[in-house]
Amino acid sequence: MISTEQAPGIYRHRIGDVLVTVLHDGELTISPSFLQNTTAAEVEALMRAAGRRPPFNTAVNVFLLQWPGRTVLVDTGYGGFGGPTAGRLLRNLQEAGVSTADIDAVLLTHIHSDHAGGLIDADGLAVFAEAELVVPEVEIAFWYDDANMAALPEFRHRGFKFARQTTAPYADRTRRFTGTEPLPGIEAIPLPGHTPGHTGYFVGTGADRLLIWGDIFHVPDVQAARPEVTLPYDLDPARAAKTRLEILERAVAEDMLVAGMHMHFPGLGRIARAGAGFVVQPQVWSSELPPG
Ligand SMILES: [Zn+2]
Repeated sequence: MISTEQAPGIYRHRIGDVLVTVLHDGELTISPSFLQNTTAAEVEALMRAAGRRPPFNTAVNVFLLQWPGRTVLVDTGYGGFGGPTAGRLLRNLQEAGVSTADIDAVLLTHIHSDHAGGLIDADGLAVFAEAELVVPEVEIAFWYDDANMAALPEFRHRGFKFARQTTAPYADRTRRFTGTEPLPGIEAIPLPGHTPGHTGYFVGTGADRLLIWGDIFHVPDVQAARPEVTLPYDLDPARAAKTRLEILERAVAEDMLVAGMHMHFPGLGRIARAGAGFVVQPQVWSSELPPG
């Protein structure tokens, strides 16, 4: 019998004293007609130009950060909320040699199902028994505000219920942070628009720095070329597009290494200008890491 099983979805990269491990949670399929501020024909043309053919899968990545004696998970993937093509975080975490009890803190970029779903198991209980849950104050306040929910159309209400369902088991160990240092060695940068509290996280210092920028891209092959393209997941599409353009320009200016939850696994790369837009230059596989 020929196996069609892939190698475990794990990729390690060192940033200063931090070992970053990208963990593949799976993928979701996005239809070209789902994207906004564009046409399905333009999306298909951009995908073809990037060598893509249907079905157009988008990766779901999670980032594990390890310092000596300290382990942080940035987002948790879909858990049981993403169907059969997602929810592989725990298997890949185990392959990386880390147990759920080893996680000291779970830091969220925002509270959407593909980022917070892995917080809870099938019984609705906390997966990370020892972890502090660290969430931007703006983000958690937004999802727990009934007035915000009432002000939005019905189809948005599920997101509020979901945000509360996944974070509630951590209520007695949730830290809602303001400011720029959610955890030692991590610098927060607000990237609002996709959600009100959508936040990116820098690790490392100086030239050896990585920005984990959450959902700046959902479909990188399209949104790098056309940063104005948005998705219905964006709560404030105009702000999301503005934030994307600003951080893309900064990434080029500072030659920044960036990582995204929906950039092609292993989700690391740099940004270059290409025509009127940008292009992702993916990190090339490295079989040797500098010692920590
Ligand atoms: Zn997402």
